[in-house]
Amino acid sequence: MTQSVPQPVTQAPPLRARAEIDLAALRANVRTLRERAPHAALMAVVKSDAYGHGALPCARAALQAGATWLGTATPQEALALRAAGITEADARVMCWLWTPGDPWADGIEAGLDMGVSGRWALEEVTAAARALGRTAKIQLKADTGLGRNGCQPADWPDLVAAARAAETEGLVEVTGLWSHFACADEPGHPSIDLQLTAFREMVAYAEKQGLDPEVRHIANSPATLTLPHAHFDLVRTGIAMYGLSPSPELGTPAELGLRPVMRLAASVALVKEVPAGHGVSYGHHYVTERDTTLGLIPVGYADGVPRNASGRGPVLVGGRWRRASGRIAMDQFVVDLDGETVEPGAQAILFGSGERGEPTAEDWARAADTIGYEIVTRIGVRVPRVHLDEDPSPGGR
Ligand SMILES: *Cc1c(COP(=O)(O)O)cnc(C)c1O
Repeated sequence: MTQSVPQPVTQAPPLRARAEIDLAALRANVRTLRERAPHAALMAVVKSDAYGHGALPCARAALQAGATWLGTATPQEALALRAAGITEADARVMCWLWTPGDPWADGIEAGLDMGVSGRWALEEVTAAARALGRTAKIQLKADTGLGRNGCQPADWPDLVAAARAAETEGLVEVTGLWSHFACADEPGHPSIDLQLTAFREMVAYAEKQGLDPEVRHIANSPATLTLPHAHFDLVRTGIAMYGLSPSPELGTPAELGLRPVMRLAASVALVKEVPAGHGVSYGHHYVTERDTTLGLIPVGYADGVPRNASGRGPVLVGGRWRRASGRIAMDQFVVDLDGETVEPGAQAILFGSGERGEPTAEDWARAADTIGYEIVTRIGVRVPRVHLDEDPSPGGR
């Protein structure tokens, strides 16, 4: 799959469906984000297979463009990056979603930075460190108001004291103090300043107790783009790196200087004429108004095309936007071609950058009443990812 130049669209392999991943766009986005946060290091968040874009190629491309940290949710995702050859010299790798019984010892041996949100986690990680005779790198997570993972302010002194004690014993090194925003994608939301105040207080408290973290961090993509005073030492960017806007309120990708990375294309599987009054797809929620032509698009909700966008989801076929006519089924859906015809095998673009008139992931998000994050992340395993413009140079690894 390694190619040094982007494949022209017309030469793409004749597949039922494919998700083309433009790694040059991803690298450009990382460089843009670094310019937006010039005083902070950048963590490329590649959880959930890089939001559906392919974890390993995206991680490597992000490192080429100046990211120095990689972030995942689960330890399994982080360990997979190490197993694939991303060494401790290449990148710090952090993961934050631990469940009791998870492989702390493997995390220590892989040199992961491991998020710790509560006492149970600290106990499991110190036990693993003691058994291995090695020091674990941990990062204490504060719940500054998100109300999800992280340690409540009331429990913080206890967690900090226990971590400090474990540090004195040589079992852990607290490499970071960090938190996560609830509403960074809603500029001016009152919770933003409240969270920042709580974060500064919780950091100051921990430092007063003797912790000396390498990095303090709270910024996700929207905070990286809009809140320079929230950048601290490290920004953790996910969605913006993939070229999507964190929310329409913040602007389009183009307005934010970002290029969408994923393009989802399918080949039209069948074109046929049908009479007026013909029901289309399960439930007959669409009935042709006049004699027309239908195009069969061979992807469905098993491929991540949201069923919720039935009747609305846009597709560029034969130079025009068409709508999913009737239900989106597991493997396929139908578009009314309005009497026009295209050859079977013609390209149908569900979404892309929008630069050539195609719909965007944001258009699908609107059609499905969700967010762009969910559209790209849910593209299924049955859709091959074709990575374009992978940089095989040694520096690129
Ligand atoms: C997913 C995630 C991010 C990245 O968020 P984006 O909005 O995609 O930039 C950052 N930090 C944590 C803890 C996350 O879970």
